[in-house]
Amino acid sequence: MDILYKSTRDNSKSLTASQAIVKGIADDGGLFMPDRFPSLDLSLEDLSKLDYRGVAYEVMKLFFSDFTEEELKYCINNAYDSKFDTDEIVPMSFVENAYYLELFHGSTIAFKDMALSILPYLMKVSAKKNNISEDIVILTATSGDTGKAALAGFAGVDGVKICVFYPKGGVSAIQEKQMVTQVGNNVKVVGIKGNFDDAQTGVKNIFADKEFNEKINAAGYRFSSANSINIGRLIPQVVYYTYAYANLLRNGKIEEGDLINFVVPTGNFGNILAGYFAKCIGVPINKLICASNENKVLYDFFETSVYDRNRDFVLTTSPSMDILISSNFERLVYLSCGKDAAKNAEFMNDLKESGKYNVTADMKRFIDETFIGGFASEKMVSDKIKKTFDETGYVIDTHTAVAASVFDEYLKNSNDDTTTVIVSTASPYKFTRAVLSSIDGIRHDEDDFVLVDKLNELSKLEIPKAVNDIRNAPILHDIVCEKQEMKDEVAKFLGL
Ligand SMILES: *Cc1c(COP(=O)(O)O)cnc(C)c1O
Repeated sequence: MDILYKSTRDNSKSLTASQAIVKGIADDGGLFMPDRFPSLDLSLEDLSKLDYRGVAYEVMKLFFSDFTEEELKYCINNAYDSKFDTDEIVPMSFVENAYYLELFHGSTIAFKDMALSILPYLMKVSAKKNNISEDIVILTATSGDTGKAALAGFAGVDGVKICVFYPKGGVSAIQEKQMVTQVGNNVKVVGIKGNFDDAQTGVKNIFADKEFNEKINAAGYRFSSANSINIGRLIPQVVYYTYAYANLLRNGKIEEGDLINFVVPTGNFGNILAGYFAKCIGVPINKLICASNENKVLYDFFETSVYDRNRDFVLTTSPSMDILISSNFERLVYLSCGKDAAKNAEFMNDLKESGKYNVTADMKRFIDETFIGGFASEKMVSDKIKKTFDETGYVIDTHTAVAASVFDEYLKNSNDDTTTVIVSTASPYKFTRAVLSSIDGIRHDEDDFVLVDKLNELSKLEIPKAVNDIRNAPILHDIVCEKQEMKDEVAKFLGL
């Protein structure tokens, strides 16, 4: 029986995986969820003998059950290839007290590559399976990393156009340079005068605009989303949790069946939710530790059962986590209320109307069985980067440092000696200014590429190709618009 997908806000309709991938988000504004959790076919021992692509197939075939083996392997083999700078795809290092699972060896040196290298292929195959003749227009709001990873994934793919919106001034200089130098005749990049939530809300409003949708349909286009709400992004992320377990088993670090923890630097809640999906298909996971930066809406939720976005938005040194509405959290809320779509829709309506909602004690208990919240201040992040480098020589980026710092606090306050994996989401070369300042204690005002060289001198860590490639690349995108003008920019892009 195929796994079917239903909206978190309306249980009455079911879609196949390929239909849900093309659609991105449900018409009612809800997110697609599998109607049940499948189980891994192979034992963990057997999985430990497979390479990344092998594990990817074993995991994705469970959720994308309407894809043929040939279709899925075509997607996997095109995604996880020499774009990654290591055959292992996701190498792991033990440093101090935990394993660091490095998800930044893809073409844009951040974890978004794990899913966005495969999404364009999944989308192309899905469109073909469903006889969709219109060109797909991907609209994406980015807090920094998704944008470039989506541009890199979709540039030059036939039948697809992509438009990325980022908060002007809210992303790192390297992140911005990566985006505005993107080549390809099917791409557009726009800075908006607002923060990430404004960009995300703007994109959601365009998707929900019936009239505008009809207008673009008439011109031969249809919208889809590459944001982390698409199951075509969520499911590929389940793979590296499974692979990490298999890797530890292969290397004799754990025995089959041993539980492990993951600490995940969290923003939109997509990465950590994939960890939960891994647990649901049979990967032995004890705790998922949700690490927030100073935008600690999730940490406060774990403390109080109230999700409350009414607060000032803080610009931190971990911009990819500067988020007040963690979209994917809705999926956990939906599961925690027993897949009651009407009830979930009420919470989401409260969020929309008053900026907050309060879950029931039963729901909170369900969530607490697996999840633990923590947060790190800017000072803790900076101290952790320095301490880790000084004591071990290992350089971590600001996002990873949020997780590492939260893990240190967790160890201080618990007796948990479970083997733990820190999910490492970006190369330190993506956030050189903050990383270097943390290590040498100096405020750096130099050009970003000067800082790249300084960090290289200090750390001896090889400069990734992705950084060298953009050093002298020309700027191809310089549009900045008001948040109310996003729709006009899309219309211009499509020639309407
Ligand atoms: C996107 C991102 C995160 C947050 O991941 P979510 O899935 O949004 O929770 C953390 N770190 C980096 C470097 C990212 O790019």
